Amino acid sequence: MRYAERGYNLEIDLSRGGIERVETDPRLMELYLGGQGTAAKLLWDRVPPEAEPFSPENLLIFSSGLFNGTPVPAATRTSVNTFSPQTSLMAHSLMGSYFGVEMKHAGYDKIVIRGKSPDLVYLWINNGKVEIRDATHLRGKGTQETAALIKEELHDAKVQVAAIGPAGENRVYMASIDHSHASAARGPGPVMGDKGLKAIAVRGTQDIHTARPAELFEICLRLSKELYDNPNVGDWMATDEDDSFHHDNFSWGNARTRRKDFWSKELQGRWTRLKYDHMDRQTGCYNCPKKCHNVISWPGRQRFSYKCYGKDTYHMAAYQELDFSYDILGVAQELGLDSYSTPQVIAFALELLEAGILTDQDFPGMPSDVRKRYFYLLDKITRREGIGDILANGVSWAARQIGKGAEKYDHNTVKKFEQLPIKLGKVNPPYFLMIATGEKMSITQIEGSFPQDPLPTMEQRQEFVKNWAAVPHEKFKEWFLRWEKRNEISNEASCAITDWNEAMHYIDDSLGLCGFVSSFRGQFGGKTGYHVWNIPQLISLSTGLDFDKDKLWKTFQRIRTLVRAVNVRRGLRRRDERPPEDHWAVRNEATEQKLLGDYYEFKGWNSDGIPTKETLDQLGLNYVSDDFIKRGILTGNGGAPSRETSKEKGEQIESRGA
Ligand code: SF4
Repeated sequence: MRYAERGYNLEIDLSRGGIERVETDPRLMELYLGGQGTAAKLLWDRVPPEAEPFSPENLLIFSSGLFNGTPVPAATRTSVNTFSPQTSLMAHSLMGSYFGVEMKHAGYDKIVIRGKSPDLVYLWINNGKVEIRDATHLRGKGTQETAALIKEELHDAKVQVAAIGPAGENRVYMASIDHSHASAARGPGPVMGDKGLKAIAVRGTQDIHTARPAELFEICLRLSKELYDNPNVGDWMATDEDDSFHHDNFSWGNARTRRKDFWSKELQGRWTRLKYDHMDRQTGCYNCPKKCHNVISWPGRQRFSYKCYGKDTYHMAAYQELDFSYDILGVAQELGLDSYSTPQVIAFALELLEAGILTDQDFPGMPSDVRKRYFYLLDKITRREGIGDILANGVSWAARQIGKGAEKYDHNTVKKFEQLPIKLGKVNPPYFLMIATGEKMSITQIEGSFPQDPLPTMEQRQEFVKNWAAVPHEKFKEWFLRWEKRNEISNEASCAITDWNEAMHYIDDSLGLCGFVSSFRGQFGGKTGYHVWNIPQLISLSTGLDFDKDKLWKTFQRIRTLVRAVNVRRGLRRRDERPPEDHWAVRNEATEQKLLGDYYEFKGWNSDGIPTKETLDQLGLNYVSDDFIKRGILTGNGGAPSRETSKEKGEQIESRGA
């Protein structure tokens, strides 16, 4: 019997209409856990590095995390992985709510989609019965409308649906896949549209077995109570009405203007009333005691939900107030657009108009009111109509296509993806490394377990470390206690901190744990629900495998190195690992490059950011080192390639996408 996982993937070939239930190799769970870990292995094995993101060969993989559907609380993340048309690299996307759990109850750890359907279809998975159904009547429908229509068609309100809106159908790079107050963005939406797949509907009623259920249940019951009582986990922004942090510190517009004294008590009172006058309820995800989703009904609009910073992105991009976000969010979510990158793209377009790089002729019929302009551009982008066709490729590609100096306005992307609109003074070295070398492309994956700023007094620091149960080693406490100024922390500490931050993200995303109770929350102090000390026991009890902290850490290194290898094979190199030039006001190229080089060495990567043969072989990734040597990415003795080869491969990133 297979424990925690189901042991089967559902393989769908949309070109041929093929449906297969395929047994998986049980050893993969021990090596890569599940979720994004095993998804990276599939992408490595089955998608040749030359394959374009918009090609039938590209896979679109929905993965349940290893803990999804077990009693482990807040194990709610479904990962959706593919190769992104925006970055050409592996797209990391996570959505909460119920989808991955339902998939697993239906009997599958993953849904693996390949090929392209000649016309729009949806997938109906009802335990062992799987159908590819016509979805042409759903063309152009919004994400929630699609889910409602499918449930009606199937006569089952309990079906879980993940769907794209018209933006995904039109292969807009910022398109997301939406599912019950959660969404998967950063790459998979346009790939789902390219494959002609409108939605996946799933219903599962089968049991998920665990190796030692009684012990696991007892621990999970306690964990669930602890999470419920713990104010340091979950999204505090769902209930805390003081949002001065984002508004005073993040940049408005296209990551342009900081409004340090924007927030006031009067504003807070007004916005709180606005929220509670329009909030239907707060909801959470499967088997989680927290409630992070605020569900809002705004007159004349589709009901929508948000959490954390998600409610701020539109009004901050447009220099408006919360009522504007409430007005536009339901529309944007229904179109299936990511609220993280889309507002930046629109603000970028309006900046180009103001600068005279684009002209009124590029925006025929656009209203003069800024709010209406956002709706106008949402529509153009979704339809890929006129200038919207260029903007639909995201800021980085659009800047290159427009030219005439537009490139200068592309000042907030890394590896061609829009980043959080933050501009700071001095560099925080570990966060320089997170932004430069991160391959997950989102803020929750860049922030992590270690704080971003030192605390001002020794008493505060001592209080902080007292509750820091998550630290994998005492040295992190020592570094934090001695940390006085943001930019003054040793390279040795910075490398280890980055590694720990990443470890928790990679572990969470393979197990399906929510970052709000684990990898994202440690930085703010207090106890996180999950850490390297309690996760191994949960893996052992649910899977029956012997896991301890060291084995978990090595598993993280294996998964993280494999993801790097997947992207290296598609051209990722050191020159791509640059935070935006104006991310910090005070920069020192030599210091930053030294830090980057030290980090590569710490990770066992060569000076171009490529894992060495020795590192790969130690992690059991011999198949990767063999492939790298065959392709000339590494030389026969595992050393760095010639510069020419490196550059040649690196240019693959440039040639794809737009
Ligand atoms: S902490 Fe919030 S976002 Fe995370 S699983 Fe629980 S309800 Fe969902």
